[in-house]
Amino acid sequence: MNQSPLIDPFERKITYLRVSVTDRCDFRCVYCMSEDMTFLPKADVLSLEELERLSGAFIDLGVRKLRLTGGEPLVRRNIMSLIRALGRHLETGALDELTLTTNGSQLDKYAGELFDAGVRRINVSLDTLEDAKFTELTRWGRLPQVLGGIEAARKAGLKIKINMVALRGVNENEFDKVIEWCGREGFDLTMIEVMPMGEVGGEMRVEQYLPLSVVRANLAERWTLIESNHRTGGPARYMKIEETGGRLGFITPLTHNFCESCNRVRLTCTGTLYMCLGQEDAADLRAPLRASEADEQLVAAIRVAIAAKPKGHDFVIDRRVKIAAVSRPMSMTGG
Ligand code: SAM
Ligand code: SF4
Repeated sequence: MNQSPLIDPFERKITYLRVSVTDRCDFRCVYCMSEDMTFLPKADVLSLEELERLSGAFIDLGVRKLRLTGGEPLVRRNIMSLIRALGRHLETGALDELTLTTNGSQLDKYAGELFDAGVRRINVSLDTLEDAKFTELTRWGRLPQVLGGIEAARKAGLKIKINMVALRGVNENEFDKVIEWCGREGFDLTMIEVMPMGEVGGEMRVEQYLPLSVVRANLAERWTLIESNHRTGGPARYMKIEETGGRLGFITPLTHNFCESCNRVRLTCTGTLYMCLGQEDAADLRAPLRASEADEQLVAAIRVAIAAKPKGHDFVIDRRVKIAAVSRPMSMTGG
């Protein structure tokens, strides 16, 4: 780090940057995108070189962990050139971790290269182990392709965490099965509460919403869940499952407030920085990035943005409040 660190008005040090490298995806998960989703014009999207420079500026300002997400990060053309470039910051010791969140569809192709670039852990999103349900949920996805990708990732030496969105009436009958599967395969599991984002339809979202407090109480009837003090600075709270030895995380933005320890900010593929997943506060970094080849303006804009990081969010899922708390879809900031 060459400069003074990024500290927000609530004394939170910003050490974690999530970068959405594309808004495009080869799936159309029902809770994330509409089937006829319109994507950003390519001209608005930062080039891979610009994403590298922006990420580099954050690393210079003390960011130690970088997660690539999307859309689907691995469908962006030539994505490995960015990942390899960012991997060099691992070699210099400037970065502790480079990771990504993926739907797994392209892992068969990229797992080995990811490992070679320095990636050691990945999150793979998988909401069901049933073929037909998988296609229903992702619309365009095929389960065998994702399971094959997960296998390739394991063989390449990547540690895998499964992200599962808990959906009422959709996959709630599979929680035990997925816990067992993760235990057998040696994967950690994180369950995510569906969040009110994007224009996926308020009515449907209310029906899908399943509070994880309820899930957890239900699981505790069959599994021994031991409180764990494992923390990532993120929204997950972790338990250890005695029977499988695996870790189980719960991301409960709606039933539990996690904002006080938030160490992260999110960058979209157009260079907009979101200071909070649940708020509209944003700063444009594309203009200062493109204004000059030197980084002064960019760094100044980042500092101004961090100085405006909100204290927390106000998500609400309620039958009376049918609108989404945040109008942008998760595919814009990548979760
Ligand atoms: N395409 C990649 C994937 O699916 O892992 C990365 C981007 S995706 C937007 C990141 C995570 O957000 C996934 O685990 C997905 O399940 C989750 N997600 C998307 N929409 C969501 C919503 N409305 N509520 C909660 N989680 C959501
Ligand atoms: Fe694509 Fe991920 Fe959104 Fe599914 S959750 S549509 S895989 S970006």
